Amino acid sequence: MKNKRTWTRGDFIRTALIIVLAGVIVCEGVYLIRSNRKGVEPDTDINIAAVSIEKAEDTAKDDAETEVPTDAAPPAEMSMGGETQTVTSGNKIIVIDPGHGKSSSLMSADEKISSGWKQNSSGAWGEWRHYKTGSVNTDCEGTGCNHRVTPNGACWYPIGNGDRATEPEVNLNNALAAKTHLESMGYTVRMTRTTNNENPSITKRLSYCYPNNNTATSPDATLFLCIHSNAGGGRGTSYISLEDPYDQQWISSTYTADGNRLGQLCNDRIAETTSLTKGAPITFEPQLIAFCKAPVTCGYLEIGFFDNQQDLSILRSESDAIGRAIAEGIDSFIKGN
Ligand SMILES: [Zn+2]
Ligand SMILES: [Zn+2]
Repeated sequence: MKNKRTWTRGDFIRTALIIVLAGVIVCEGVYLIRSNRKGVEPDTDINIAAVSIEKAEDTAKDDAETEVPTDAAPPAEMSMGGETQTVTSGNKIIVIDPGHGKSSSLMSADEKISSGWKQNSSGAWGEWRHYKTGSVNTDCEGTGCNHRVTPNGACWYPIGNGDRATEPEVNLNNALAAKTHLESMGYTVRMTRTTNNENPSITKRLSYCYPNNNTATSPDATLFLCIHSNAGGGRGTSYISLEDPYDQQWISSTYTADGNRLGQLCNDRIAETTSLTKGAPITFEPQLIAFCKAPVTCGYLEIGFFDNQQDLSILRSESDAIGRAIAEGIDSFIKGN
């Protein structure tokens, strides 16, 4: 049987002193370490509360660093869905426009209106080539614009001028292939049409450069690429070049150079990786509606000649390669190559 020892008053005082001393030594030690780290002379009068505040600030700072702000530069690469993708493509919106849709003769009046087409003072259907200078949502209606027109063109563009046979389906196949490859690279793609049974106006197509097609807000797309095929005698792949001046709202001082570089990069890649021969840039149509109204970088491809049987055969059999080349051209443009 053990001896039972009762605690005296002295025992309590000694134990309490030991606990208090131990606490003071630990706290002083923590403070000295932190003060020395900051290069500050320790001040023995500063109490433990100061250390606690400092620690709270450190914790808050750590939390802030853990969450990357949305406007901060992202890491060079990140993993998404098991694939390593470059972040430069991750949040970029690309608008792909497969050109002409179904024939205007197959559209009702209601369908024309909902597709962005308008009637002029003579009752004819079409759209205006320009916005009023400095605008991106007020049509020129023949005045208040720079009046730049294509050869044989005017401010007014009749809906029937865009009617084509064969080209709509060729363009759509190439555009859908480009979409697939762009998405596999991590881009977000908006299509101005997804079937051959629709025919939006060019003005309507450009509204896809904006969130929810709202031209009253600022555009959120990085670029707008028109995908067409040529006709009228010839062979090979080309692009239509831009030429100053353009005066719509939102465009940058490098709008013309950027559009030409985008067209060139895509066209070069198509010529390098498909059976289509490389044609020279088309320089006589810088006043296309897309160029005159786009709020962001605008490129315009004329891929092969759909009215040439050899080119048409390539367009039909190598559509996936053409789409891949377009995606690679866009990727090179965005990454500044
Ligand atoms: Zn005009
Ligand atoms: Zn076309």
